Amino acid sequence: MMTLKSIELSSFKSFGKKSLISLTSPVTCVVGPNGSGKSNIVEAFRFVLGEQSMKSLRGKGGIDLIFKGSKGLASANRAQVAIIFDNSQKIFSFTNSGIGVSLDYDEVTIGREVYADGANKYSINGTEVRLKDVVDLLASVNVGSSGHHIISQGEADRVLNSSNKDRRIMIEDALGLKVYQYRIQESLRKLDKTLLNMKEVQALRREIAPHLLFLKKQVQVVEKAVSMKEDLRGLYKTYFSTENTYLENQTKIITHKKRILDEAVLSLEDRINKLKEFSVKGDDNSNNQYDSRIKEHEHKLSEVRAGRDELTRALGRIEGVIESIEREMRKVSDVKEVMIPESKWREIVDGLKQKIHDALHLEDLPEVVKILHSIREHLESIGSSLHHESSGRDFDKELEEIRSERDIILNKLENIKINESSILRDIAMIRKEEADAQVALRDSQRLLYELMREQNEAVSGQKSLIFEEEKLSLIKSNFEKELAEGAVIIGREVLSYAHERVEGEINRSSQEEILRKIERIKIKLEDNGGINSSEVMREYDETVARDSFLAKEIDDLGKSVEHCRLLIQELKETLDTEFKVGVEKINKQFQEFFSTMFGGGSAFLSVVMDHKKSRKISKEEMEEAEVEEDEQNELGFERGIEINITLPQKKVKDLHMLSGGERSLTSIALLFAISQVNPPPFLVLDETDAALDEANSRKYGNMLESLSKYSQLIVVTHNRETMSRAQVLYGVTMDASGASKLLSIALVDATTYAK
Ligand code: ATP
Repeated sequence: MMTLKSIELSSFKSFGKKSLISLTSPVTCVVGPNGSGKSNIVEAFRFVLGEQSMKSLRGKGGIDLIFKGSKGLASANRAQVAIIFDNSQKIFSFTNSGIGVSLDYDEVTIGREVYADGANKYSINGTEVRLKDVVDLLASVNVGSSGHHIISQGEADRVLNSSNKDRRIMIEDALGLKVYQYRIQESLRKLDKTLLNMKEVQALRREIAPHLLFLKKQVQVVEKAVSMKEDLRGLYKTYFSTENTYLENQTKIITHKKRILDEAVLSLEDRINKLKEFSVKGDDNSNNQYDSRIKEHEHKLSEVRAGRDELTRALGRIEGVIESIEREMRKVSDVKEVMIPESKWREIVDGLKQKIHDALHLEDLPEVVKILHSIREHLESIGSSLHHESSGRDFDKELEEIRSERDIILNKLENIKINESSILRDIAMIRKEEADAQVALRDSQRLLYELMREQNEAVSGQKSLIFEEEKLSLIKSNFEKELAEGAVIIGREVLSYAHERVEGEINRSSQEEILRKIERIKIKLEDNGGINSSEVMREYDETVARDSFLAKEIDDLGKSVEHCRLLIQELKETLDTEFKVGVEKINKQFQEFFSTMFGGGSAFLSVVMDHKKSRKISKEEMEEAEVEEDEQNELGFERGIEINITLPQKKVKDLHMLSGGERSLTSIALLFAISQVNPPPFLVLDETDAALDEANSRKYGNMLESLSKYSQLIVVTHNRETMSRAQVLYGVTMDASGASKLLSIALVDATTYAK
């Protein structure tokens, strides 16, 4: 069980020269006169093991630990102590393996240097490390940081003087339970940190919550807009395809109508022009042509009628002649008949025949009248001749002649009658012709008016077509405007709707209804304008992701908190159990050592809950205090250790009433009991035996011996009994130069030899 090998001091306090104390035996005694530097060796132990309290090192600062120099030796700029442990059993280890120091050696050397400015350097096997690493390494061999295994001069009864709480701490350390305290502390720190973290994360989450809500609403708006756009797209599809079909149909219809109207106007114009020409001509004709023709005929008629009158008159004369002849005849019926020679008669008849013949072949009425006059003269000449010969007149012959004359005239009259009626027929015909022409003219004028009306109609039809075209082009421009807008709102695919066609009849009013719906949606979309949907969606997604990340974080932290609490709970339970078990064990030893020392009596430790004293905590106690916090329960109690003793044959129970020796014995008994339950590798005792009488010194010596089976003992003493228990003595002297000197004396234990 030997782990300690040596300790080496250089320029530490009074050890101006490098001094090595070899610690190879169970009990090593350090002896020497007062002030020679023995306690400086004990302090070297404390120092090299990481003591931070300058007070425990009896100094004010680093400079006090450095050899101040003497007559023969120069002062140094740093003090150095190294402690060398045996590690052939590889008992040393780090809980933290990451410091890069190999422990794979048979020796472990821990070194500490201090400089005048107070700076410290720690090393393990020559590698510079942190104090923490030294503490960590020592913990692995049950060397705690409370220093309970190093009892300085005058501190023999320290354990009796300290508070219940400090005792508990010391015992926990001695039992090797400090590691649980550290872990608890660490877990508490982690818990605090986690809780703080959680609070921060919760705050962060709370912070983004309103924004998230806002974004959610925005997203709803965006989604609404998307669905509205979908509606709009549907409406556009119907509207544009219908409108396109309507426009195409209307354009076709109008073009067709226009062509028909244009053609109609042209042909009407042509016909009207022709009719106009015709009616002008008709007007001229009616005035001139028919009138002159009728006049001509009427002239002819009057001529014919004049001829007729002449003939009628001639006829009347002839008939008068005939009557007179017949009267004459009747008068001269008794009168002898006038005889006309045949040759003469023949001559007269032939002459008349010729003349009538001539007249019959004449067209000209005056000529005929002329002939008729000559005929009359001729006949008168005959008459006179006959009258002349009246005595010898031939009435029959005269009558016959005149009658034939009358027949000729009658014949002529007959012809004239035919002629007259022919002329009248002609006139009637012309009149009918004229009437017909007038009817035709009226008809054509009526037609003209009809055509002109039609033309007017056609022209107004053209005008209304232009109007319709304008209307259509307005519809088209609105359509195109709407289309462009639609393409902006919905996208370019809308443009394709404008090339689609629909079947069936197109209802304009339902188109207008659709357009109204479109307008309404556009207004709503415009109200939602300003929102950049992709930006909102992106931000929403990001915020949701962030929120769920934070939620997950909170959840994880919550789990971590739970885990921490559980761990702390477990650690506390373990600590509690081990502490109770440890105290039980200590009590057994304590009772034993105590009754050995005092020859009876009783001694035991009890776990008590003291009211926590509110007191100011010094800086050095801060670390400890932090650990302690957990030891207070909610009611402000803290756990402590109370020492209960009863001396044999004495009623004294109060520790304060013990004598100096009794105090020493009690504390030694307790210290040894603790050390035996959980032995440290070594114990350093500086004049713990100072107050003991001879008998007790012996008992003390016995206990040292039994203790040295578990721990190496380095004992500073003036007590010969104690010295007799050592295998090695180190004598310390201080020469005239003021530096400590070491002298080793090996002793042979007489009892060992006796065996
Ligand atoms: P005692 O038996 O009376 O307890 P001791 O042997 O334990 O005495 P120490 O207390 O170890 O003696 O040594 C004290 C001596 O060490 C003093 O003489 C003191 O001057 C000397 N000393 C302390 N610090 C230094 C230092 N930095 N440099 C030189 N000497 C020092």
